[in-house]
Order: sequence, then structure tokens, then C-alpha cells
Amino acid sequence: MRAPVVAYVGLGANLGDAQQALHDALAALAQAPGTRVLRSSRVYRSAPVAAAGPDFFNAVAEVQTLLPAPELLEQLQSIEQAAGRERPYRNAPRTLDLDLLLYGVARIDSARLTVPHPRMRERAFVLLPLRELAPALVGDADLAAVSGQRITALPPTSSPG
Ligand code: AMP
Repeated sequence: MRAPVVAYVGLGANLGDAQQALHDALAALAQAPGTRVLRSSRVYRSAPVAAAGPDFFNAVAEVQTLLPAPELLEQLQSIEQAAGRERPYRNAPRTLDLDLLLYGVARIDSARLTVPHPRMRERAFVLLPLRELAPALVGDADLAAVSGQRITALPPTSSPG
């Protein structure tokens, strides 16, 4: 029997009804085998970073899972697929993007999976919602480094959870 691991998943969407896409993704994540959504952050609206299209809506979910990290990533990818994500070119606008940010304290560097997510510390849309859930994981210096990025939290009533 594996011990449960607490992991953090970044959610982003910028096409169609993006807030609904986040809400649906959280519901789908809660259905993944051996996985519970413990908490989710507020929804944030952010300017695209190295991506085209309209503003993104972002959130972070804290999950508890019995799945090994590669299997959790597979679940995230199948949720993305189900949301109709198409990838005509790198950083194209997307219906739904799910990133495995942290998987307990694991450090993973395989062909398909790098954890902690290699770009998470560069992105305000990851760090602000992550800090809501896990303040110890995001320091003031981390936030200062992304302070030039445009991002606002939506009122809590817009929470995807
Ligand atoms: P993206 O287009 O940013 O969603 O990148 C997806 C690709 O990144 C997939 O091929 C994944 O295998 C790979 N990848 C590596 N590390 C991670 C991670 N921590 N979370 C999500 N995707 C990852």
C-alpha cells in the first residue's frame, strides 16, 4: 500500500469559457483514481506569458493522491485531452493546461516529467495561488521576482472549487 502524497497542480485556461474549464477540471481531478482535491485557490486572471491569445484564468489545486507521479501526470493529460485541447504549435492558446507543480518533496527529472515544475518560480500565475495554499513554499523573494507580471485575483465567489 502506497502512502498518500500531497501534490500541487497548476490549472490554466484562456479559450472559451475559461472559468468553467477550471471548474470542470477540478471536478475531473477529484474523479482521478486514488485522488482527492483537498483545497483550491481563488481564481486569478493573468496576462499571457510566452503565449498568444486572451488573458488566462489560473488556479492551483492541492490534491492528495495514491498515484505515482507519472500516473498522476497521465491523469492530468487525459483531463486536458477531454477538455479538447489542441496543440497546433508551441504555446498556442489552450482550452486547458494542467501542470504538476510539486509532488510531495520529490525531485523528478525524466524525459516526460520534471518536478518541481521547472518554470513555476518564473510565473506569478503559479506563485500567487500556490502561496494561498502553501505559504511556506513561496517566499517574498519569489514574489518579488515576478512582480512585473499583470495578475489579479477574482472575488472568492469565482472560486472553481
Ligand atoms: P505544456 O505544453 O506546457 O503543457 O507541456 C506539456 C509537456 O511537458 C508534456 O510533454 C509533459 O510530458 C511535459 N512535462 C514535463 N514536466 C511536466 C510537469 N511537471 N507537469 C506537466 N507537464 C510536464
